[in-house]
Amino acid sequence: MKYKVPFVNYPKQYQDHKKEYLEKLDDVFSRGDLIMRKDLEEFERKFAGFVGTKYAVGVNSGTSAIYVALKAAGIGFRDEVITVAHTFIASISCIYLVGAKPVLVDIGEDFNMDVKKIESAVTKRTKAIEVVHLNGRLCDMEKIMAIAKKRKLLIIEDASQAVGAKMKMKNGEWKKAGSFGIAGCFSLYPAKILGAFGNAGVLATNNSEIAKKARLLRYNGEDRETRTFYCHSHNLLLDNAQAALLNVKMKYLPGWIKRRIKIANLYYNGLKDVPAIKLPHFGDSRFYDAYFHYVIRVSDRENLKSFLRSKGVETIVSTGFPNYRQPAMKPNKIFLKNTEEICKEVISLPMYPELTNEQAGYVINCVKEFYY
Ligand SMILES: *Cc1c(COP(=O)(O)O)cnc(C)c1O
Repeated sequence: MKYKVPFVNYPKQYQDHKKEYLEKLDDVFSRGDLIMRKDLEEFERKFAGFVGTKYAVGVNSGTSAIYVALKAAGIGFRDEVITVAHTFIASISCIYLVGAKPVLVDIGEDFNMDVKKIESAVTKRTKAIEVVHLNGRLCDMEKIMAIAKKRKLLIIEDASQAVGAKMKMKNGEWKKAGSFGIAGCFSLYPAKILGAFGNAGVLATNNSEIAKKARLLRYNGEDRETRTFYCHSHNLLLDNAQAALLNVKMKYLPGWIKRRIKIANLYYNGLKDVPAIKLPHFGDSRFYDAYFHYVIRVSDRENLKSFLRSKGVETIVSTGFPNYRQPAMKPNKIFLKNTEEICKEVISLPMYPELTNEQAGYVINCVKEFYY
C-alpha cells in the first residue's frame, strides 16, 4: 500500500542531499578507504564532540554498542544489571549475551525507568544500571546518578533513541544523552535520529580504558598498533563508507532535531484538546526532548491504527507487548504494572525531519476525525 504519510521516508532523505552522498562515496571508493580509515576516525571525533564525550568508537549496530559497553565495563557471569522491559529487546538481550542477568523494573508516565523502583531492585550482585532513554527523552539522570553513586553501581546508557536529547543539571549545565554513564550506546539504524544507510552504531565514553577495550572488542581483540590480540571477540566494525556518509549527515543533525521538535509542537497544538489522547509532553523544563518517536497513549489503539491506515497514514506500535512475555525470556514471573498498561496503549505517529507541515496537519485532522 502506498501511504499518503508513510512512517519513515528514506528516499526523501536521500534525495534532499543526494549529490553530497554520491560525491562522498565516490571520494571514499576512489581512495580505496574501506576498512578503519580516516572517515571512521573523523566520524568518531565528530560524534564525540556532538555528545560531549572524549571518545567515540564506531561499531556495526546499536546492539553491538550495548554488548561492547557491557563487556568493556567488565560485566559478566553472576552479575546483575537493572534495566527496563519497555524497550527494544536488544537492551535486555545484550545483558544475557555477556552472561549476566537483567533485572527489570517498571517505568513511569514518561515511558522511562521509574527512579523510585531502582533501589529495591539492587542486590549484592548488581553491577550496573542500564538506562534506556526512550523516544528521545532522557531518564531522570540527576536522580539516577545519585543512586548509582550511593550504591556504587556503573551506569550504561542505551541512548539508541536519544541522539541529541539533553537535560539541565542542578549546576545549570546541559548534558546530552550518552555522556552521563561509563558508556553511552547509540543505534544508527536508518530510522533512528541519526541513521546510516544500513546498520551502524557507536559507543561514546569519557573513560579511556573503556574506549581502549571497546576498540579491542569491536575487532577480534586486536590492538591495531601493536598487532597484538588481547582477547577473543567478534568483528563488529563500522564500515568506513558508512562513516563517511554519516559525516555528511552530522552537518544536518542539529537542524533535523530542531525540525522534530517543531513537528512535536504541531502535534501538541493540534491534539492537546482531544481528551481521549495522552500526549508525550511531560512538562519539565529540565528536559530537552529529541522526539525520536512521537508516542501517544489511547485506549482504542487498534481501531485508531486501522482508521489511520484507511486514511493513508502509517503508524507503528513499538513495544506493544512486554518483552518478558516473549519466548526468548520465558519462563519468568515478571509482571510490571505500568509497563503492562503502557504497552496496551502506545501508538507512534509519523515523525521525521522530512515530514511536511501539511502532512503533520493531515495526520492531526485524521486523528481528530476518528475522535469526533
Ligand atoms: C534501535 C535500538 C537498539 C538496537 O539498535 P540496532 O542498531 O538495531 O542494533 C537498541 N536499543 C534501543 C532502545 C533501540 O531503539
